[in-house]
Parts: sequence; C-alpha cells; structure tokens
Amino acid sequence: MTDYQMLIDGKWESGTGTMPVLNPANESVMATVPKATPEDAERALAAAARAQRAWGRRTGLERGNILRQWAALVDKNKPHLAQILSQEEGKPLTEALGEIDFGRSWLEYYAEFDRRIEGDIVSADKPNEQLWIVPQPVGVVVGIIPWNYPSALTLRKAAPALIAGNALVLKPHEDTPLSALEMAKLAQEAGVPEGVFSVLTGAGEVVGEALVKSRIPRLVTFTGSVETGKHIMRMAADTVKVVSLEMGGKAPFIVMDDADLESAVKTAVFSRFLNCGQVCICNERTYLHKRIADKFLSRFIEEVKKLKVGNPLESGVTLGPKVNKPELEKVERYVDDARKSGAEIIIGGKRPSGEAFKNGYWYEPTIITNVRQNMSIMQEEVFGPVIPVMEFNDFDEGLTLANDSRYGLAAYLFTNDMNRILRAVRDMEVGELYINRGPGESIHGFHTGWKQSGVGGDDGKYGLEEYLQRKTVYIRYQG
Ligand code: NAD
Repeated sequence: MTDYQMLIDGKWESGTGTMPVLNPANESVMATVPKATPEDAERALAAAARAQRAWGRRTGLERGNILRQWAALVDKNKPHLAQILSQEEGKPLTEALGEIDFGRSWLEYYAEFDRRIEGDIVSADKPNEQLWIVPQPVGVVVGIIPWNYPSALTLRKAAPALIAGNALVLKPHEDTPLSALEMAKLAQEAGVPEGVFSVLTGAGEVVGEALVKSRIPRLVTFTGSVETGKHIMRMAADTVKVVSLEMGGKAPFIVMDDADLESAVKTAVFSRFLNCGQVCICNERTYLHKRIADKFLSRFIEEVKKLKVGNPLESGVTLGPKVNKPELEKVERYVDDARKSGAEIIIGGKRPSGEAFKNGYWYEPTIITNVRQNMSIMQEEVFGPVIPVMEFNDFDEGLTLANDSRYGLAAYLFTNDMNRILRAVRDMEVGELYINRGPGESIHGFHTGWKQSGVGGDDGKYGLEEYLQRKTVYIRYQG
C-alpha cells in the first residue's frame, strides 16, 4: 500500500487527513490519498494564478516541447501507469494499456498547436485603424473529472489547457485519484513549472465545490454526471465563470433490417460491455428492426456469453468489476425495477457467485427484453454491463425512440441505406453519431453532448477554443 501525496504549487503535500483508495476487484485498500480542504483549494488556485502569468507569456513552441516531453514519459511509464489504472478503476489490463495511449495522444495532438493558435486581423471601419481579434488564455482553469477514464481524462483536460497558456488545478474522482497523481509526477519531470498543474484529491462536495466557487478560475471544465454538472453550473453562475460540461448519455443503438448483422452484433457487444459498461457513449439501449430482431438476438446472446468476467489483471478477462458499491447497487436497482415492470432477463441479472467474486463489485453481463420505452432502464443512464433490447417497426419509429431522451451524447446506426444515413445525420439529437461502427472518438473530432448531456465540449480545434478568450483591439495610427 502506498501513501500518496497531492501536488500543490509544485510541492507534494500530505494534507491534514487521508482517504483510502480501494481496489474494486477485491475491496482491499491499495493506497491512501490526502483529503484536501477548501483552504488547500484556494492556495492551489492562487499559486496557479501566479504561475500562469509566466507560463502564458512563454512561446507556444516552449509549451509544446514540454507537452511532447510529457508524452514521451507517459509512453516510457506505460506498464506502470496501466497497472495502477487497472487496479484503481477495475478495467482489464489490455483496456488500461489502451487508455494510456489514448491519453498520451492528447499531449501529442495539442503540442501541435504550439504554432497554430491563431487570431484575426479584420478590415477596420475607419481610416488609419487596425482591428485585431487576439486569442489569449482564459487564465486559471479548474478541471473536475470522473472515475471511468481517470488517466485519459486527466490529459484530455491538461493538454489543451496548458498549450493555450493556462494553469490547471485538477480534481480527480475520490475513487480513482492515483492515475492523475501519477500523471502529475510525469508532468513535473517533463518540466511543467510549479503551480501550472496542481492535483487536489478529496471529496467533490468539499474541495470540488471550493474550486468552483472561488473567484480565481475563469473556466470550469467538468466531466461527470448530469446532476453534478447542473450543480456546478449553478455554482459557477455567481462568479460568471465559463463552464464546459461533458456529462452522461443514454446512447441508442439502432440496427436496421439491411445492416451487416455480424458487424452490428459484435459492435453492440463491444460498445455495451467495454469498461464494464462504464463509458459515457456506451450502447445503453439497443433497438432492433422487427425483421432482424430474432436473428440478431440469438447471435448477440452467443457473443455476450463469451465475455469473461474476472480479475482485470488476468489475461483473457474482458469484464472487470463495477467501480464501487453504490454504482453496483445502482445497476441492481435498475434491473430490479425493470424486472418488476415486466421485463424479461434473458441472461445475467445478478452478481456472479463463487469464491473469486466474494469480494469486489461484480455484476454478470445482462440482457433484458420485453422492455417499454417509459421504463427507467430505457430512460436513465445505467452505466453497467446491462443492455435492454427493444424491437421497432420502421426507421421513423426507430428515430423517434432514439430521440426520446433527455440525453443527447451519442448514437449508433447500422444500415446501408444512404437515405436513412443522411436522415440520421440531419435528425438525430446527439453530439456524436456513429454509423456502421463502434465507439471511440478521435482526438481531433469534437466530443460534445447535446440536450442535458452537456455544454461546450472537448477535443480538436473546437475543444481548444474553450480554453481561450478573445480580445478585440482597435488601433488608430497617424500619417
Ligand atoms: P460524478 O458527477 O459523481 O463525479 C464527477 C466529479 O465531480 C468527481 O470528481 C466528483 O468528486 C466531483 N463532484 C461531485 N460532487 C461535486 C460538487 N458538489 N462540486 C464539485 N465537484 C463535485 O460522476 P461520476 O460518477 O464520477 O462519473 C460518471 C458520469 O460521468 C456518467 O454519467 C458518465 O456518463 C459521465 N461521463 C461523461 C463523459 C463525457 O465525455 N461526456 C466521459 C466520462 C464520463
């Protein structure tokens, strides 16, 4: 077991109290981390404000070189980072290794903006005048992240924040703080200056709130649940901060009668059970055209039965535990509600039995049929290895069912009909649409939620824009 410290203003600190970090596969305490206080939050923010002035005045090239160095260190330490990630979050080691690469790609990608942050010179309305629109860093940024991709999301926030010349104070989730702290060690080694990147561990309701309420930061970039995001938005209103909110989803997965069925089946399995179903863009509700429903379902069941639940560090395991007990109990509640409302559990629907699963937060891969659109399992984000499956009659009905949600993060459509594809592009109320393929956004796309799934977004040139503010300058000259 390791006693971790948190990073404030370039110094590692133990704080005044600690909290345990559990391994969700066996409930053992794998580490402790400090419990930051509101005073710690304010100190980290004040240090960030001091450090940001010098950091923002460095050239883009200097900042880019530090990000490149950081990326190289992530690559060098990949096995260690993946082990820690797998143990604190519960994802299979192969997935953890993939997440480390995914995270590193943000450092590499945003380093390329070292010479590419651009302003405008537009024609002035008056003679002897210049009109410039100048991009500048927002200043101090607060990043608040969830537990499901604690390593990659650290870098998804840090890379654009830092290349734009901001300082970032990051608060990882209580259950998965170690990946962010490990990344902070590498940031220091790469040459990120004191105060430019701090990591505070502790409770969202205490240190998270203090960070959001402080007068110092100008931007809060948050990834997490809709409920917390709404609360953050309300709190940020008092100081008129910019908020960028990446929140939950309830992605529909529509399979039409002309689809490549084998590909649809395999993708439906992958996009539901990846990371134990704990992905914001996961297939949360599968809709099958009535003509292919039976055929799809029997192949789907076969494929789901092949999933191997077990110790995430063991090779061949494809499904780890849920991240914590409340999350496990939430999944159980949704399944029980569905059962009570008349749904049929085709496979799973319970915790696995046996010595290997005595401790830890395990749940069997579960398929549910006989569901109705108004059931909670079809409306609320389950975020677990559970998939409700429903039939529909035609494309119009499929679209209507897909859009019948307060969420609007992602959607999947399997069809080879160009008219349907183009209609989906026009009519699907989501920020991310996957056609004939599974999940996995590109760093240069724009990861954004519509409706209650979010405000603003991450990645690419549009994501970078969140970390900049623009100043319009009117200059009059003589002669
Ligand atoms: P959560 O909202 O419970 O926690 C997220 C973060 O907010 C944590 O760091 C937590 O400590 C902090 N927090 C909690 N209360 C706070 C408060 N009052 N003030 C400030 N901070 C506070 O979410 P979670 O359970 O960690 O994550 C799962 C959710 O995240 C799911 O809904 C998932 O869909 C979503 N998610 C979205 C994306 C995306 O890109 N859209 C990506 C990953 C996860």
